[in-house]
Amino acid sequence: MIPIDLSLALGLYLLIGVGIMSLLWVVSESRRRAADLSPKENRAWACGLCLYQYIDSIAERFSRCPRCGNLNKK
Ligand SMILES: [Zn+2]
Repeated sequence: MIPIDLSLALGLYLLIGVGIMSLLWVVSESRRRAADLSPKENRAWACGLCLYQYIDSIAERFSRCPRCGNLNKK
């Protein structure tokens, strides 16, 4: 067995713990950002008149159909 100081052991323990936590945080943050860039289900619209399906990322409740111009409600 290798004799080590108690403060050195505590320091190493904390350093490894913080390192693992930072690694997990970076991985989860990069996954969250990748998910934000992909199109969400609530941005997909289906026209009630011509049944055309399209993506409108700006509209919140109402969106105008790019094909027929019908105003669609969420
Ligand atoms: Zn339409």
